[in-house]
Amino acid sequence: MQLYNTLSAKERAALIEEAGQDRLTISFYKYAHIGNPVIFRNHLFIHWNEMDVLGRIYVAHEGINAQLSVPAENFGRFKDFLDSITFLENVRLNIAIEQDNMSFLKLKVKVRHKILADGLNDATFDVTNKGVHVNAEKFNELIEDPDTVLVDMRNHYESEIGHFKNAITPDVDTFRDSLDIIEKDLQDHKEDKKLVMYCTGGIRCEKASAYYKHKGFKQVYQLEGGIIEYTRQVEQLKLENKFLGKNFVFDHRRGERISDDIISQCHQCGEPCDDHVNCANEACHLLFIQCKKCAEKMNDCCSDHCKEIHALPYEEQKALRKGKVVSNKIFKKGRSEVLKFKKQSV
Ligand SMILES: [Zn+2]
Ligand SMILES: [Zn+2]
Repeated sequence: MQLYNTLSAKERAALIEEAGQDRLTISFYKYAHIGNPVIFRNHLFIHWNEMDVLGRIYVAHEGINAQLSVPAENFGRFKDFLDSITFLENVRLNIAIEQDNMSFLKLKVKVRHKILADGLNDATFDVTNKGVHVNAEKFNELIEDPDTVLVDMRNHYESEIGHFKNAITPDVDTFRDSLDIIEKDLQDHKEDKKLVMYCTGGIRCEKASAYYKHKGFKQVYQLEGGIIEYTRQVEQLKLENKFLGKNFVFDHRRGERISDDIISQCHQCGEPCDDHVNCANEACHLLFIQCKKCAEKMNDCCSDHCKEIHALPYEEQKALRKGKVVSNKIFKKGRSEVLKFKKQSV
C-alpha cells in the first residue's frame, strides 16, 4: 500500500506536461467529528493518489481543509468518492476560475491538531453557533447598509492586494490577532451594528462568527464560500462585483484577479503592482510585492544582501544557511525593514 509520494515535484511536473490533460484547482473544508484522523488520512491518500489528485490537505479531529488539483477527467470519480463519505456528501467545492495544471505537484495529506491554526480555545465557546450565511446577492445588499461594519478576516498580505470596498482590513499577521482588534474597535456596537465578515473560502469566518456571537455581538453574518464563491456567483448571476483587485490564494499562483483595479504597490519602488513573489534567496524566501522592473534590477531578491547571497555558488549558499533555520520564520509574514513601501507591523 502506497501512503506517501514517490515522485519529486519536478518529475510530477514533467508527467503533467506530458499527459497534456486539464486539471482543476479545487478547495473545500468541513468541520466534522473525525474519530481517527490517521485512518481517515490514509483512506484519502490511497483513493486520491489513485485518481492522480494532488494538493495540500489538513485532517484533524475537528474536520478537513483541502486544496487540490484534480484531473478534469477524474472529476466525476473524485466527486463520487467525496459523496461516499457521510459528512462530505454534497460539500461545497470551490473551483478556481483560472485554469492551472501546476497549482500543486504533490499530494500531501497531513494530520494536524486543527484544520485551521486559529489560536482559539474551542472549549470556551460553542463553535456550532455560527453567524448567518449569506450569498453574493444578499452580501452586496448588506454591505450597502449604513448599519453594517464589513470586516476582512484575512491577514495583511492577503487584503493588501485585494478586498471589498469599504472593508476594515486589520493589519495583522495572524487570524487570532484580528479577532481581538475587531472586538475592541466595535466594543460599543455589539448590538446596533451588523457585523459582516468574509475570508478566502469561508473557513475562517465559520469560527470567527461563532466567536463573536459568544462575545456578545447580536447580528453576525458571513459570506458563504468566501471570496471564491462570491466571484463565481457574481459571474454566473451577473451581479455587481464589489471586490477590488486580486484574491490571494495559497497555491503557487498566489493571486486570482477579480477586478482590474491594482490597489497595492511594489514594495521596492512604489509603482502600482499586486504581484506577490518570494525572495529568490532560499535562506530568506520573504513574501513581498515586486514589479517586473525591480525583479530584474534586484535579481528577484528582496534586498541587496539577499541579491549578494543569491549570486553565490549554490554550495556556498548552502554552507551559509547551515545552522540558520530560524531566519526563514522571521520573514515568513511578508514584512521586512528593507521594503520601503511595505507597512511595518504596529
Ligand atoms: Zn518596483
Ligand atoms: Zn530576501
